[in-house]
Amino acid sequence: MSDSWSATVLTLFPEMFPGPLGLSLAGRALEAGTWSLEAVDIRSFATDRHRSVDDTPAGGGPGMVMRADVVAAAVDAVHPSGDPRPLIYLSPRGAPLTQQRVRELAAGPGVALLCGRFEGLDQRVIEARQMEEISLGDFVLSGGEPAALALLDAVVRLLPGVMGKEASGEDESFESGLLEYPHYTRPQLFEGREIPAVLTSGDHAKVKAWRRERAEETTRQRRPDLWEKFLRKRP
Ligand code: SAH
Repeated sequence: MSDSWSATVLTLFPEMFPGPLGLSLAGRALEAGTWSLEAVDIRSFATDRHRSVDDTPAGGGPGMVMRADVVAAAVDAVHPSGDPRPLIYLSPRGAPLTQQRVRELAAGPGVALLCGRFEGLDQRVIEARQMEEISLGDFVLSGGEPAALALLDAVVRLLPGVMGKEASGEDESFESGLLEYPHYTRPQLFEGREIPAVLTSGDHAKVKAWRRERAEETTRQRRPDLWEKFLRKRP
């Protein structure tokens, strides 16, 4: 086994990977071997004649449910017990993904991700394989794949050598408990709007103070939940 960060994705649509992660920073890092990505088709673990992976929900109701036996076979094939990588099921019922969890994952050996489809997984396989459930946010996707791509994007940019200094900056949104300050670049004048004078003053202390103020004000206005937490943590 190589020592690069390793991602395995269980999905009914392996052709969705690497998708956007094959381009730009993540794509270059993938080519360079900084991380590896294996997409495994859950359907190849179906055992019946029709290769079915889903069935009607017990108790009735709309939609279909992914079968526990098929999903368990797929999980066991790519994530044997003793695999040090967390096994994560992307699910709207999971804990919301945070930058802190992203950092922890980037510091570890990799991840095994399970993408649901239909109404989701039979609850018993989630429990039997002790999956960690992670949500991308309070909205419903049609499948876990876009969530897996987003999670991997967030992690991969933090891997050593992928982005350079920027990704480790304390200023970045969420790192300090605040949203980041706004950015400006040339031209100096855009449709009658100037770059704030302090940013072109060359006074680094003033720039720093201005950015801090903007970060605090933006967080207070846009994310009262983060602002409350920030105030509570401040000595
Ligand atoms: N019936 C489910 C939604 C199923 S959506 C419910 O109401 O909770 C189908 C699949 O999309 C899920 O199994 C999950 O893997 C994925 N998914 C949907 N929304 C998601 C979200 N916010 N975060 C992560 N994965 C999500």
